[in-house]
Amino acid sequence: MYQAFLVKYGEIGLKGNNRHIFENALRDRVLEKLKPLGEYKVTREQGRIFVECPEGYDYEDTVEALGRVFGVSGFCPVEVVESTEWETVKQAVVDFVEKMYPRKNFTFKVAAKRADKHYPVTSPEMCADLGGYLLEHFPELSVDVHNPQEVITVEIRNRAYLYSKVLAGPGGMPVGTSGRAMLLLSGGIDSPVAGYMISKRGVELEAAYFHAPPYTSERAKEKVIDLARLVSRYTGPIRLHIINFTEIQLAIYEKCPHEELTIIMRRYMMRIAEHFAKKDNCLGLVTGESIGQVASQTMQSLLTTNAVCELPVYRPLIGFDKVEIVEIAKKIATFETSILPYEDCCTIFVAKHPVTKPVLPAIEKSEEMLSGVMEDLVKTALETTETILVEP
Ligand code: ATP
Ligand code: MG
Repeated sequence: MYQAFLVKYGEIGLKGNNRHIFENALRDRVLEKLKPLGEYKVTREQGRIFVECPEGYDYEDTVEALGRVFGVSGFCPVEVVESTEWETVKQAVVDFVEKMYPRKNFTFKVAAKRADKHYPVTSPEMCADLGGYLLEHFPELSVDVHNPQEVITVEIRNRAYLYSKVLAGPGGMPVGTSGRAMLLLSGGIDSPVAGYMISKRGVELEAAYFHAPPYTSERAKEKVIDLARLVSRYTGPIRLHIINFTEIQLAIYEKCPHEELTIIMRRYMMRIAEHFAKKDNCLGLVTGESIGQVASQTMQSLLTTNAVCELPVYRPLIGFDKVEIVEIAKKIATFETSILPYEDCCTIFVAKHPVTKPVLPAIEKSEEMLSGVMEDLVKTALETTETILVEP
């Protein structure tokens, strides 16, 4: 039915002299998302992106793909009319309304634009003429210029574009316009959502997963790879570092007070994630933490964990309740995978009564017990890390 889509963006229009960088990035991201679906032609066009669909393309798949491109605020399916001759266009609009609206008892207005000011009919004339013409054909319609249910838009360019429907995009900024960050990705509900949120602001993602074989299974690792793949449908390819954490956890378990296990473990995760982050030019770390969710996420715990990091730690879910996080996890389709019951490396070494208000000097003192052994264990963990590229 439609031959093209007009892609609209909100925020990136505001970027002054950098605007073309954002527009080019958006064009490239749109093209990447559509590439697996066929030979689409994607061009920048006066404050919007224009997508021409190949013959026989799948409408639903195309809509679904455009709905995953950050930076897209909305998009309109467009009927393209090859001739711009006014009488032909008018007839095409009547056919368009006939086809698109089985019931014609709605209010409407016509919006008209012409790229070429030499076009023989002015925009106000087009609106008036077309409005009257539609009413003649469909007497059940009525005009409401202030609050119409439908806006029938006609644009005259080298061809004529007709559209009336606007589908919602995810908003945000195109990935690749804000630098790169390292996501600490576990198998839980929160961290995939955190990755989605930060990437929505244009950030490219890398990820780090800490596993503890044989305490955590191969299936737990596969689950994290699956989650990375689901997130990458929005963010684009993710380099995932899979870090062997078993020896480090065992050493902590052996040498440190058990109520401090989680905090100390999380400090080592941050240190190692930061190592890879710096190596790969990431500008920050990202976690799925939210204040007060568990003992390791009280403000005191966050302060203690944060103390080992030099890079900023972004926590996009910090003020979210679990129900709000779950809602996003369902929307981006990571929820079903996140709730699969494979054990997480943190759940195996958790204490019955973890500290909820750790004090930094005390934690640092406990970590001194690890000196002499930990250096080598961290070195080995870094050396044995497996890095894979996860693509949608
Ligand atoms: P999630 O649902 O993301 O697993 P959670 O509620 O289980 O979160 P924690 O286990 O305290 O919370 O973890 C807090 C954050 O620390 C996670 O959101 C994630 O960013 C990071 N994290 C925890 N475990 C791991 C892991 N095994 N590998 C990588 N990152 C982890
Ligand atoms: Mg977790």
